[in-house]
Amino acid sequence: MDDYLERIRSGSLKLYALEKELGADEAVRVRREYIESESGADLAALGSFTIPIDQAVRKNIENMIGAVQVPVGVAGPLAVHGEYAKSSYYLPLATTEGALVASVNRGCSLITRAGGADVRIMRDGMTRAPVFAARDIIHAREIVTWVEEHVSEIREAAESTTSHGKLFDIVPYVAGTSVFLRMEFDTKDAMGMNMVTIASAKVGELVERETGARLVALSGNMCTDKKPAAINVVKGRGKTVVAGVKLSDDLIATLLKTDAETLAAVNYRKNLVGSARAASLGFNAQAANVVAAVFIACGQDAAHVVEGSTCITTVEKMDGGAYVAVTLPSLPVGTVGGGTGLATQRECLELLGVHGGGTPAGANARTFAEIVAAGVLAGELSLLGALAAQHLARAHQELGRG
Ligand code: NAP
Repeated sequence: MDDYLERIRSGSLKLYALEKELGADEAVRVRREYIESESGADLAALGSFTIPIDQAVRKNIENMIGAVQVPVGVAGPLAVHGEYAKSSYYLPLATTEGALVASVNRGCSLITRAGGADVRIMRDGMTRAPVFAARDIIHAREIVTWVEEHVSEIREAAESTTSHGKLFDIVPYVAGTSVFLRMEFDTKDAMGMNMVTIASAKVGELVERETGARLVALSGNMCTDKKPAAINVVKGRGKTVVAGVKLSDDLIATLLKTDAETLAAVNYRKNLVGSARAASLGFNAQAANVVAAVFIACGQDAAHVVEGSTCITTVEKMDGGAYVAVTLPSLPVGTVGGGTGLATQRECLELLGVHGGGTPAGANARTFAEIVAAGVLAGELSLLGALAAQHLARAHQELGRG
């Protein structure tokens, strides 16, 4: 051990290269001890965890020194009537925000008492948009024309890199001499970012060779990955999912301690007018809270909470109650790949019955997306209800304060 610490200090052994000389467990322990000795911080808790280190360092993390533990609670049962999710679920939520699980749980109970949430996926496609440089705008137009006339050749190149991914749309955008090709793939049960990036590289080679365009960046930001972007809200990215439930006046009164008119008024002034006035891309109360907590629990890419936060919540007063719906234009989720294989994240997906590849391929990711959307609906109902009944501050005081 001392020998390794000494070599790292002298610079003859790089911190990141420990796995080349030691087994994964030992490498992580030595690295943590080195960081402890350099910083003076005690990292014992960071070093105590159950996920398999060899798997994590192979696929998920570099320079690993430990694992942060986030408490996981469940909200449910949540009755879901999707095209894929057709059951009652306990939703795993990983969070440190007191009151969040209780809030979602209240929404789940409301939805389940109302007979369950209807959920439908409206579009399903992961995108990547490489940017190419043209010589001038005439060349830019020629590149676009070539792409439009060679879609099947482009599809063949893209799909040669994957046994699951299917390219189903390619839309060119031009700005001056920059040409963006926004490609959209069915990625089945994978969230698909690595898959579509690898496929896009192959397309990039073909377009360069055939048109004289110069590939500048494999991601040209018109994808748009992990940045708030209207294109994702309008055209969708990942799963576009809608969940809705009809609540009776009686349920709204009993469980939310308010009425349909007040619920609709809060939604109108807060989620619609307030968000419009703020020029927000999210017209909702707390969609990101639910998306983040499920994503962390279930091994999703946490940065995709950006996309998940662009939810639109609607409340329509109708005879005998209200119809409440959430529309998530951009929900990138997967049940294979990424962080989904790590033991604790895998268990959370198993709790929902969606870990791994589905039958047929894609069914598990779609089931998962429908459950997440129903969970977001639960969070919206609960928070809107708390605001309508003027209960929000009290709940946080009771549940969220140490
Ligand atoms: P991945 O772990 O890189 O790959 C998943 C692979 O699983 C697929 O490519 C597919 O192989 C295979 N597979 C097996 N069964 C499948 C099934 N039923 N459905 C679909 N695929 C199946 O995961 P990914 O979803 O492509 O990418 C997710 C990772 O990308 C995350 O770790 C995320 O953080 C990261 N990420 C990358 C970028 C980037 O620019 N590269 C950007 C954002 C996030 P085949 O393709 O051979 O069929």
